[in-house]
Amino acid sequence: MSSIPVLDTRPPDGLTPGSVAANKLAKRLKRLTGQAVTDYGMIRDGERIMVCLSGGKDSYTMLEMLLYLQSVAPVTFSITAVNLDQKQPGFPEHVLPEYLDGLGVDYRILERDTYSVVTEKVPSGATMCGLCSRLRRGILYSHAREHGFTRIALGHHRDDIVETMFLNMFHGARMAAMPPKLRSDDGDNVVIRPLAYCSERDIDKYARLQQYPIIPCNLCGSQDNLQRQNIKGMLADWEAQDPGRTERIFRSMTRVAPSQMPDRDLFDFAALD
Ligand code: SF4
Repeated sequence: MSSIPVLDTRPPDGLTPGSVAANKLAKRLKRLTGQAVTDYGMIRDGERIMVCLSGGKDSYTMLEMLLYLQSVAPVTFSITAVNLDQKQPGFPEHVLPEYLDGLGVDYRILERDTYSVVTEKVPSGATMCGLCSRLRRGILYSHAREHGFTRIALGHHRDDIVETMFLNMFHGARMAAMPPKLRSDDGDNVVIRPLAYCSERDIDKYARLQQYPIIPCNLCGSQDNLQRQNIKGMLADWEAQDPGRTERIFRSMTRVAPSQMPDRDLFDFAALD
């Protein structure tokens, strides 16, 4: 049986289970998840939600938040956690089934050896994450389509959304981020991001508080995308100098003023006389 690589899972400073601060953190995450779900109409009555569970802190937190919402929401919906075992060397296969059995949640583990495909196609030394994620997405989306899931829930959070906007601005010269809800490229699935309003900092603290059995996404030895790491560093520096800046950037993305931007597709400047 494989073991889980050692990660920093120590409880965050000053936060102990049951403390006032821990309860406030849990409440904040629940409130923000509920708010995002409501604001973007993510879940209707009768929805069948496929929750993509990678074993990272974000996906564990998302699953827990959706289970909470399921218990209090005025609508009825089902939740199935789905993990894709991509056959990376060292992937601890027992961890998620044990965790999910303990939780009593419906789940499926899909097994596809995308690791071999990726290592064969990507030159050694190059980052494998782009192809790996595309393959993963394709398999999960097909599974959702074939099994009649009406929503695919992904664990991206506020900071992922802000980082993606800067990545697209700096490297693609366009302003685009990650929407909290979208129709997938194949047109068959609706993808939702219930943690869209939650900060990575809160999720990280909460995951450590909950002692989730984290499985890192670098068992394959691939390097994280360097450009994203640079943006993360930039945002962390800004946040240190000016606390709250990331949240304000995110909020600004929800309050775009088309006539105040030089995008001629957003606003008909020619019609102004
Ligand atoms: S770190 Fe490995 S498993 Fe994770 S996306 Fe990159 S290639 Fe895939």
